[in-house]
Amino acid sequence: MAVIGLGLIGGSMAAAVRQNRLAGTVVAFDRRYEDALLGQELGVIDEAAASIADAVTGADLVVVAVPVRATESVLAEIKPHLAPGTLLTDVGSTKASFVGAVESVFGELGANIIPGHPIAGSEKSGVAAANPALFAQHKVILTPGEGTDPVKLDWLTRLWEGCGATVLTMSVAYHDEVLAATSHLPHLIAFSLVDTLAGEDQNMDIFRYAAGGFRDFTRIAASDPVMWHDIFLSNRDAVLRVIDHFSRDLDQLRTAIANQDSATLLTVFSRAKAAREHFSKMLSGQAYVTDMSQNQVTFHLKPGGRMVGDIRVPGDKSISHRSIMLGALADGVTEVNGFLEGEDSLATLQAFRDMGVTIEGPDNGYVRIYGVGIDGLQAPRGPLYLGNSGTAMRLFSGLLAAQPFDSELTGDESLSKRPMGRVADPLKAMGAVIETAEAGRPPLKIRGGQALTGIHYEMPVASAQVKSCLLLAGLYSEGATSVTEPAPTRDHTERMLEGFGYHVHRNGAVSSVSGGGRLTATAIDVPADISSAAFFLVAASIAPDSDLTLRHVGMNPTRVGVITILRLMGADIEVSNEREVGGEPVADLRVRSANLKGIDIPEDQVPLAIDEFPVLFIAAACAEGETILRGAEELRVKESDRIQVMADGLEALGVRTTVTPDGIVIPGGQTIGGGSVDSHGDHRIAMSFAVASLRAVGDIVINDCANVATSFPGFVELARSTGIQISAEGI
Ligand code: NAP
Repeated sequence: MAVIGLGLIGGSMAAAVRQNRLAGTVVAFDRRYEDALLGQELGVIDEAAASIADAVTGADLVVVAVPVRATESVLAEIKPHLAPGTLLTDVGSTKASFVGAVESVFGELGANIIPGHPIAGSEKSGVAAANPALFAQHKVILTPGEGTDPVKLDWLTRLWEGCGATVLTMSVAYHDEVLAATSHLPHLIAFSLVDTLAGEDQNMDIFRYAAGGFRDFTRIAASDPVMWHDIFLSNRDAVLRVIDHFSRDLDQLRTAIANQDSATLLTVFSRAKAAREHFSKMLSGQAYVTDMSQNQVTFHLKPGGRMVGDIRVPGDKSISHRSIMLGALADGVTEVNGFLEGEDSLATLQAFRDMGVTIEGPDNGYVRIYGVGIDGLQAPRGPLYLGNSGTAMRLFSGLLAAQPFDSELTGDESLSKRPMGRVADPLKAMGAVIETAEAGRPPLKIRGGQALTGIHYEMPVASAQVKSCLLLAGLYSEGATSVTEPAPTRDHTERMLEGFGYHVHRNGAVSSVSGGGRLTATAIDVPADISSAAFFLVAASIAPDSDLTLRHVGMNPTRVGVITILRLMGADIEVSNEREVGGEPVADLRVRSANLKGIDIPEDQVPLAIDEFPVLFIAAACAEGETILRGAEELRVKESDRIQVMADGLEALGVRTTVTPDGIVIPGGQTIGGGSVDSHGDHRIAMSFAVASLRAVGDIVINDCANVATSFPGFVELARSTGIQISAEGI
């Protein structure tokens, strides 16, 4: 391998290649021979070449690592010595300029010439600053041409990966646009700001008192002037576009300050703050909430305890989602309290910000949404990233199918495997144009500007998400859109549409909307999630001497199976203060200890309590007599096979059960022993066994509990404050 230009980047690449033994011999030429000798002395390279001819002759790879405007003359010097099969690449910060230089020297971008740009660097320059770890965990962009030899591309990719980098490929033009915005403009601003302030009379004082923020912000103004001079002149058009855009936005802020226009200032700042918090996650396709999947969180529980207190568990996820969606589409300002700050609802919130909706918060569950009206969404600048949220993706597809602009919906790795045909097919029948990846999977590419027509759709499988998706598309469709469900599903969308003043006609299994209406902003106090409340309902029922009040719990009839079942088992649950919020019924629940008895769970209650069975199994183990569950096959395909995982966990604590194909039989009155339980990453399993500790006789350890934090933020603290003797390790 030959490196031409042994400075920071050339030297670092040479050192990384050597350290990782990715090439036989690394030779370098630098126009200052002493720099090449220094590189040899420092162990950055194997050999210093006295001329370009010496370096290039016989090399299988030549890397040009000189300032971009020096590239063309260096290529001309290299050309006579380059063997036909040699791979030629560069590291320059602008790519159209490199391709231009190649074309003027070689006539065309041949199959063996691959432009490259490592997105890593520092303000230092020269070979003495070479660092073999510079590219580790950084990206390298390659911009191959149409005729690039795939074998060479693969080789170069592996070489960079061997240096610890992640390799991306993109077009030359796109590279230059992206870098103009994300790298070149910030450098220009940093240079300019420091220069402006240095010219002020009191500059010494200004710099003396400069706070950390100024130092961080202007660090890049210490970069190499020649290099940046070259970059700006080489990427002139893209840089000018982004400067103009920025100048307009800066001017808008200036006007807002001059006019004391608080709304504009707050809008811009809160949008920027949110984008800053989320952009790195959006780009890397990671979780919005601190990514804990790498973390091993373990719960430790001491046996016994009683449950007392007056609490409110976090807000309902389905309702949190929908409050943002409908608030964004409404006329006026919607205020939301009790918003669940979990992964899924944050993804929805960010997606609306990406479509031009101003949203303040979330701040302790408070969110303020400045609705843009039903036709006010703007085209997002890029794909909308929906994290892990299947609900968001299905609901968004209905909403976006009817917008005037194109959009693309993406998600994390696991969402990208989930089939979306269930929503795409009926939407296409309404006139939507949607492209999916193979087998109906995300990303979904939605073509805007289609006129949708209402349909009557008989859902083959009962799904609240499909129903909601079609009703949202129906808001924009000609005529009526109606959906018939084969079995009752959650009706949060219908209720919330009514809460926003949009009439949904409901008749038995059929829900329908007519297009062309408008939504009116409202205030929503998101009901506490009954699925989260369920852990505390069971906990206070099984722990002796308990008396616990749960406030503002969502009592949607499609969700209250857990209360019905617990009451059939003899639980003492008092419902009071029943009221309606944003179309949803809520109530306060007071739970006291009770002697539960085993029951044959009525099958009609199963779909109404589907998420609550893990904790109901704990109630059953503590009851007198046998509890039988049937007709719950769906439990086997949730986040885990909840029947088997619960049975295994109970067994680890010495509780016998009999698993059946569609349910389980749990003989009650058994002693819950101490032991170690694996939750298989399923948040509901983890929380259920935490509840079991109240009646256990020994310590319980629950492994793999990281996901609890996303569905139930603050669970450990709330459980501890009410009487469960829990501590968490690894958070
Ligand atoms: P550097 O440390 O200044 O190294 C540049 C090297 O090129 C020096 O050895 C220099 O020799 C040599 N050179 C300059 N003009 C030349 C010419 N006309 N003919 C032959 N050699 C010449 O700069 P660098 O940071 O490594 O940057 C190299 C390339 O990497 C640039 O294209 C830059 O855009 C790109 N890049 C830089 C960064 C970064 O953060 N620094 C990041 C990514 C990509 P002298 O010592 O004699 O000047």
